[in-house]
Amino acid sequence: MRVIEHPSALLSPKSFVLGGDDLFGFAPSSGYQELIVEHPDASMRLDTMPLDHLMAVLKLYRDRLSHLAAKPHINHVQITRNVGKAAGALYEHPHAQVLAMPVTSRWVEEEVTAAQRYTGAKGSCLFCDVIEAELVDRERLVSYNPAFVAFAPYASKTPFETWILPRHHSSGFTHIASNALPLLANLLQTVIRALNAALNDPPYNFVLHTLAHPNSDSYHWHIEILPRLTTQAGFDWGNGFYVNPTPPEDATRFLREALALAEVVL
Ligand SMILES: [Zn+2]
Ligand SMILES: [Zn+2]
Repeated sequence: MRVIEHPSALLSPKSFVLGGDDLFGFAPSSGYQELIVEHPDASMRLDTMPLDHLMAVLKLYRDRLSHLAAKPHINHVQITRNVGKAAGALYEHPHAQVLAMPVTSRWVEEEVTAAQRYTGAKGSCLFCDVIEAELVDRERLVSYNPAFVAFAPYASKTPFETWILPRHHSSGFTHIASNALPLLANLLQTVIRALNAALNDPPYNFVLHTLAHPNSDSYHWHIEILPRLTTQAGFDWGNGFYVNPTPPEDATRFLREALALAEVVL
């Protein structure tokens, strides 16, 4: 494994000073952008890596995020994996992108706001409550183990969208204990295998949503896996709604069937 500066980095570690005026503001593209080359074998995939190697990859994600989050002015860190051209992958070689920025992410910010509102009203964590409900209901439950759960979110943005979350409350991926990594690696492989089997190796985006400075009772880190099976059109852009023709309950059924068949073949 290697960590290198992203060859076509959009961000660089320059000082972050807002410029312009009330009408036309601007900010420098300040931050850090790294590429993790995950395996020497170019044909290796996340679901085919030996489990102990994937654990080392996840540990490297954690360590790079901790290192970058500690730098001055960093307010957002993320890991993304783009797999397949339709998902924006630049390389076929297994890789992940690490990002650290002074500005927060629009999507994480939106989740943080909704989660804080929920905690304010109910006193509990929105994500913990959803996890508990999904484990009881099971209709959208793809797989789980003692430390992590994978389900298709109730309001999935894309067909077969799948989230992986820690079952115990934690607002930061960087707080993950080393002894939890095998369970995360295992569930991640199960989910990707199910998607590959059900959808014939679809292009997908993997996004880690976490706080850079975890200290929240209401935010809960998670991985979103978003297969790229549909394109967003004017309706989506015009309304801010996602058109998803596959209900998450149907997607879950397909994924569980794919997993059961894979076990029979094995
Ligand atoms: Zn929680
Ligand atoms: Zn999220």
